[in-house]
Amino acid sequence: MQEASVRVAGKRTTRRTAGRPVSAARGVPATGGAATGGAATGGAATIADPAAVRRRLLAWYALARRDLPWRGGTDPYPVWVSEIMLQQTQVDRVKGFFVRFMARFPTVGALAAAREQAVLKQWEGLGYYRRARQLHAAARKIVADHGGEFPRNVAALMGLPGIGRYTAAAIASIAMDIPAPIVEANSRRVIARLAGHAEPVGGAGDEPIWALAATLVPRKRAGAFNQALMDLGAMVCTPDRPLCQRCPVAACCAAKQTGRVARIPAMAAPRATQRIRETAVVARHGDLVLVERRGPGEWWEGLWDFPRESAGRRGDSVVGRVAYTVTHHRIDCAVVERNPRRPSRAAPRQRWVKIASLAGLAMTAPGRRIARLVAGPRR
Ligand code: SF4
Repeated sequence: MQEASVRVAGKRTTRRTAGRPVSAARGVPATGGAATGGAATGGAATIADPAAVRRRLLAWYALARRDLPWRGGTDPYPVWVSEIMLQQTQVDRVKGFFVRFMARFPTVGALAAAREQAVLKQWEGLGYYRRARQLHAAARKIVADHGGEFPRNVAALMGLPGIGRYTAAAIASIAMDIPAPIVEANSRRVIARLAGHAEPVGGAGDEPIWALAATLVPRKRAGAFNQALMDLGAMVCTPDRPLCQRCPVAACCAAKQTGRVARIPAMAAPRATQRIRETAVVARHGDLVLVERRGPGEWWEGLWDFPRESAGRRGDSVVGRVAYTVTHHRIDCAVVERNPRRPSRAAPRQRWVKIASLAGLAMTAPGRRIARLVAGPRR
């Protein structure tokens, strides 16, 4: 859900109200108010004036919120689809996929009735295909167990495949206006800075942030407030060089008031990158190639790819290389071509297919790149 781009709606001009400068673009006081944050005074970090944060942020959101294709309604289906797509993927990239996916599967019933391969094909290019499989499984569960209606509480939503604590709270607050707190990359950063929370965040380090979020979320307009937190993190309270001078909650921000913005949030050390070498085998007979469907527990489960070996055979000639990254793994894949005299018997999950039909298969990202190599001019 991280968004790299910075976009600020509206012009910044000022007018006077009750003796204080007010941002005309935001409609909220630009300065004034007391610094907050328990961390500055010892003990667990707190947000000293949650009511002021709520008031200022909601006023700012009404004027400056992002115009996104999944916003504006109270149907949980588009909220859910967008939230699943936004996991690990930037907002600008998700927009087009979301519109096409909703055109193909406009309701939870339509998604539930679709074949898994059709869902995976629609997802192709978005990556992290486990999300698509779980989306599909959850749609079927909603239809089978809930009569096609989304459960209307966080705990029951978390009982659906692929819906964790954040996603359940996002659906509940945005589509149902249930006062459920959220923590994701943008809101985590905003909340940590507002509270002056200097401890590392991420994983178990997010628990204090969840507790702080619970103190902030209003009883009414919870969805608008949660989206305002995320929008502020995406557009103003950015990871690097946040626009504190334009921030509607600067007066409530402990990190700003204590000069620690650049140091908050502190992130836990990332996992070291693991390098892996492998060989992709293109077994080719005439216009046929052997493909293999990824099995349970494998990366890209359910998608097609070319068989892999940890090392090639003596005499293999390398016809290309594909480098790709999966989580903290960096994979260097040599592509070799073998030409059996006749198509061998396909193992379980393998199939001989025409090269021309590869375009219609739901394939892994590296598999697609290898398929282009295969379909190109013969070497
Ligand atoms: Fe973020 Fe700066 Fe606003 Fe604090 S004042 S919430 S650091 S943009």
